[in-house]
Amino acid sequence: MTTTHAALHDDAADLGAAAIARAEAHAAHNYNPLPVVLARGEGAWVWDADGRRYLDMLAGYSALNFGHRHPRLVAAAEAQLGRLTLTSRAFHNDLLGDFAEELTALCGMDTMLPMNTGAEAVETALKMARKWGYERKGVPDGLAKILVMGGNFHGRTTTIVGFSDDPSARDGFGPFTPGFVRVPYGDAESLAAAIDEDTVAVLLEPIQGEGGVVIPPDGYLRAVRALCTEHNVLMLADEIQSGLGRTGATFACDHEAVVPDAYILGKALGGGILPVSAVVARREVMGVFGPGQHGSTFGGNPLACAVGIEVVRMLRTGEFQARARDLGAVLAARLASLPASRVSAFRVRGLWAGIDVVGRTGRDVCEGLMRRGVLAKDTHGSTIRLAPPLVVERADLEWALDQLRQELG
Ligand SMILES: *Cc1c(COP(=O)(O)O)cnc(C)c1O
Repeated sequence: MTTTHAALHDDAADLGAAAIARAEAHAAHNYNPLPVVLARGEGAWVWDADGRRYLDMLAGYSALNFGHRHPRLVAAAEAQLGRLTLTSRAFHNDLLGDFAEELTALCGMDTMLPMNTGAEAVETALKMARKWGYERKGVPDGLAKILVMGGNFHGRTTTIVGFSDDPSARDGFGPFTPGFVRVPYGDAESLAAAIDEDTVAVLLEPIQGEGGVVIPPDGYLRAVRALCTEHNVLMLADEIQSGLGRTGATFACDHEAVVPDAYILGKALGGGILPVSAVVARREVMGVFGPGQHGSTFGGNPLACAVGIEVVRMLRTGEFQARARDLGAVLAARLASLPASRVSAFRVRGLWAGIDVVGRTGRDVCEGLMRRGVLAKDTHGSTIRLAPPLVVERADLEWALDQLRQELG
């Protein structure tokens, strides 16, 4: 089967090649996708424009935690398409209340602010923290400081890339928003040293996804929580990629029994169907926003709410978190058995892994995997990220890991 796959890929006169040529001619080159053109998906599997099948081991960077076209999510969206799709927030809609109630209950919080993309939710949390700092903490106007982490990824807006330390994300897009200070990730002492009376928030990913699935040392999140509490600083957890089941718990913070002051959610919240994001926090923090001070035309739209409600209900059973835990143990065991001559290090939490390969670029390995019918994504040169949909069948996961072993040689 793998030979056929490789042979088919050498056939240049296919529908996929034509689609790639059109995209390259008319779409901005702000990505460098693998040369595969997807046309259909179901569960953990996708098919290309020429009918070849691949196991999706990226899952839209966790936007597809429930797989492609999960029947419950598609049904919720289809039912809503037949009723009402967009109102703007100029009027109430009959689903935002339910979505807000159910999502905040899942998070153990009491208020949420709905947005669309992850970057918008991060921006929302930053604005919330600054306003909270001025109005509740008493920081002098214009001085609010927010601490961020080395190796962070929080999205692509000008403010957010301004505090990135990745030159390709940042260079050429200045001048940047002031008020952010970067400290090394996973180092509680550096964080403690950087906190002063003008510090209003610490923004961090409990596990850094784009950074290569970087897991901080045990106890770090608890130390961040303790420092934030001690100094009256908000802990903002960007769980856009790490949250909603991926790590074997509802939130990556759960692994250290830590509750932040705000969860920033996105990706899987939209069920792989449409962009849905939110900041979820306690009322005394979220309460700084009044009418006209923040918003989004599409935020909290009825279609997004219908899908978001179903996502929350699916997560409430714990079934997907348990799958991530159980299959994650399979993933971890298989990665541990890869030869040290090919893999210098790997990090795994739940159904999420970063693998550092030796002697090849991650891109090269991902192209090899693609020819074998497995889609994965490289990051930072020699790291491969695996994050299959949580609905992946164990046998399919094992097959994909066989392909990885063979590809690494
Ligand atoms: C993907 C991601 C974002 C940005 O989300 P978009 O929907 O692409 O704007 C922010 N933070 C983290 C941790 C992410 O993984």
